[in-house]
Amino acid sequence: MKIDTDELVAKLKAGDRRTIARLISLVEDASEELPDVIRAVSSLHGGAYTVGITGPPGAGKSTLVSALVGILRKRDLTVSVLAIDPTSPFSGGALLGDRLRMQEHATDPGVFIRSMATRGRLGGLAWAAPHALRILDAIGTDVIVVETVGVGQAEVDVAREADTTAVVLAPGFGDAIQANKAGLLEIADIYVVNKADREGANTTARDIKQMLHLGEARDWEPPVLLTQAVDGKGIEDLWDAIERHRAHIESSGELRRRRVARNAHEIVEIALGRIRRAIDEVGDKELLDSLAEQVTDHGLDPYTAADKLLAEVER
Ligand code: GDP
Repeated sequence: MKIDTDELVAKLKAGDRRTIARLISLVEDASEELPDVIRAVSSLHGGAYTVGITGPPGAGKSTLVSALVGILRKRDLTVSVLAIDPTSPFSGGALLGDRLRMQEHATDPGVFIRSMATRGRLGGLAWAAPHALRILDAIGTDVIVVETVGVGQAEVDVAREADTTAVVLAPGFGDAIQANKAGLLEIADIYVVNKADREGANTTARDIKQMLHLGEARDWEPPVLLTQAVDGKGIEDLWDAIERHRAHIESSGELRRRRVARNAHEIVEIALGRIRRAIDEVGDKELLDSLAEQVTDHGLDPYTAADKLLAEVER
């Protein structure tokens, strides 16, 4: 199946949902056609602003994202939600869209919701998320919300893809400390203590503020907000905080620095993928086997063997 990139670009510009969904599937499948697709899509700079929503499972991220989408729609902004599930062995599709909380937006043409499974492929996430974001940017969406479903490093990696990252926590003993250990607190531009109706919300907010004061002074002091996502409380304030952060990083040059760093990372990941594939292909030609045999027999050291392999790759 050869992809007609002109047709694709036309369909994307027209906001054809099936095309968007199909392209994100190509990303999930690491399709051979991805380079052509991404080349075509990259010419359509949509200027989307990307917001990362991350935090431990059960903190209320999906509920909060749904409420945030409602607020953005009231302001006539179009929204795409990309929920990234790095652990799911299942194909993506409508994981998040199926979730009841998102149903209210399912028929809104100004909202596109999609989850993406990266099937735990090693390093798969490294270029999959940036590629999917390019596709969503190309459709001209105003705001892209990236929600991470998972814990730990995957969340930290995805946060790097966002312009503004909000870390969502729920009140609970040691929750802030756990998040700190997982590296979540370092990546937050905004903290959200959701479930403000629950006991301990103020304590958790205070813990976070204390942790922030321990760190070095920075030119952006991350706000700590209380929300009650189920009732939509505090979500307007969250969006206001996101807009304030955006204005701050736009004027300081930090937004551009973040985007340049992201693109550098994406370029390196693409290049590494190519080198790995090239090495795999050389392996097919049995050079690798032969080199490995020689190293096993102590006739060759592994560095010289790697030099020979790379020389073959570069040929
Ligand atoms: P996620 O795993 O972080 O996406 O969390 P969910 O959005 O799925 O929410 C987990 C549970 O917390 C659900 O049962 C929500 O209804 C509930 N929840 C979300 N926000 C609030 C809130 O503000 N207060 C309370 N009490 N429950 C909430």
